[in-house]
Amino acid sequence: MLKVLFAASEADPFIKTGGLGDVAYALPKYLNKLEVDARVVIPKYKNLKEEYLQKLEFVKSFNIWVGWRNQYCGIFKCKVEEVTYYLIDNEYYFGRDGLYGYYDDGERFAFFDRAVMEMIKEIDFKVDVIHCNDWQTGMIPVLNALQYNKGPCYSNIKTVYSIHNLLFQGTYDPKILGELFGWDEEQFRNGMLEFYGGVSFMKGGINYAHKVATVSSTYAEEIKTPFYGERMDGLLRSREQDLIGILNGIDYNSYDPKEDTLIYKNYDVNTIKDKNVNKTKLQKDLNLPVRAKTPMLGIVSRLTPQKGMDLLVSILDRVLQEDVQLAVLGTGDYGYEEHFKNLQSRYPDKVSAIIKFDNTMAHRIYAASDIFLMPSLFEPCGLGQLIALRYGTIPVVRETGGLKDTVVPYNQYTGEGNGFSFDNYNAYELETVLNMALNYYKDKNIWESLVKSAMNSDNSWEKSAEIYKKLYEELTN
Ligand code: ADP
Repeated sequence: MLKVLFAASEADPFIKTGGLGDVAYALPKYLNKLEVDARVVIPKYKNLKEEYLQKLEFVKSFNIWVGWRNQYCGIFKCKVEEVTYYLIDNEYYFGRDGLYGYYDDGERFAFFDRAVMEMIKEIDFKVDVIHCNDWQTGMIPVLNALQYNKGPCYSNIKTVYSIHNLLFQGTYDPKILGELFGWDEEQFRNGMLEFYGGVSFMKGGINYAHKVATVSSTYAEEIKTPFYGERMDGLLRSREQDLIGILNGIDYNSYDPKEDTLIYKNYDVNTIKDKNVNKTKLQKDLNLPVRAKTPMLGIVSRLTPQKGMDLLVSILDRVLQEDVQLAVLGTGDYGYEEHFKNLQSRYPDKVSAIIKFDNTMAHRIYAASDIFLMPSLFEPCGLGQLIALRYGTIPVVRETGGLKDTVVPYNQYTGEGNGFSFDNYNAYELETVLNMALNYYKDKNIWESLVKSAMNSDNSWEKSAEIYKKLYEELTN
């Protein structure tokens, strides 16, 4: 059986800050259904969910070199829904609040990447493919190619490197090559890791992995252009033959309006009217006037420029002159957080701004809203719109990355489509399509058929897991 080790910096249900956490939970689970032995390795952060911390079983410990430092490395393990998770323990690196954003993140993940490589020879799991994700695991393919692949446990290992977001590149002073890896400067000088004067983990992953994947076909094309390429477009063009876009799915059990225990009332495509109960209950909970017929706009997102917040900021005052309500759930840049709080204080009957990370509230907003706003500047895949579709909440999106691949704009002549979209990053275009959506909302028949086609869209993991399996097989055969 094919053995895949999925290395990531976060994984649901242990800990998650965004889409990567969802993928690291769902993809291995669906791969296992396809007879792939897929396991996951993440850091053992202090803030892992308590119920899982209790379940961890100690496997073993050893010491590893991080440059000149000799560091403790503990391995714990735990099974969740048939998937084995390994957790890498070191109190100094991971016994801190939160996940990222520390001054020594480079060192923390240099440790993690080496720990993953060392763990492979210590555990009873003969890895065929290491599937790495984003910059935090970018040095794994480098370590494999330059050092480990020569050793007996490693000689057949292949690496896949997935880009979930090219914006975060893990770039550090070139001194880290000696400081954290014990290497000379060759990799800096030959350009394989050098990135505008620094050393980039992301560049390492792209250069040294056997295959590079990203999370939608459109994003795979976009990142080869200067606008989306984050200064790595040339590099990505040079690896074009090994670059593949595979769309993320969502876990249909975690996000299922029929079974979801977090929402107020369950519904499915045959009982769409019950969706409205979710709206009125949420209105009550959020202290908004309870009005079943008022369209509710929902946002569940990091509040950052990537998510199109600037466009929203420029149109919402005008949109809020109409009979609409807006529920925003998110955290992020201070300026956007303040903007939404300010909107709530100016439109207390129309806006509720919930500035936190709250999974239950996220489910409730997906279930209660009529329209989901996601006008991203760029969007590698995007899960928000997929969850919204599943809950019959009509996405209004910009045609970029995975949004373009999953939201089919409504066609008034054929009746086809599951959402609304616009092309240019321009507030006027967003406002125009949002107004169009609000107009169609008034027509019960049209809206109901849109909700049905949204709920019938297939964004489950099955298809994509098959494609990953093929990719691993190609590499290992
Ligand atoms: P990204 O990974 O770029 O943040 P995605 O759309 O791929 O964006 O995934 C975001 C995930 O995080 C979705 O599952 C979304 O519902 C969830 N999410 C985002 N913000 C919050 C929040 N404030 N509270 C709860 N869940 C959130």
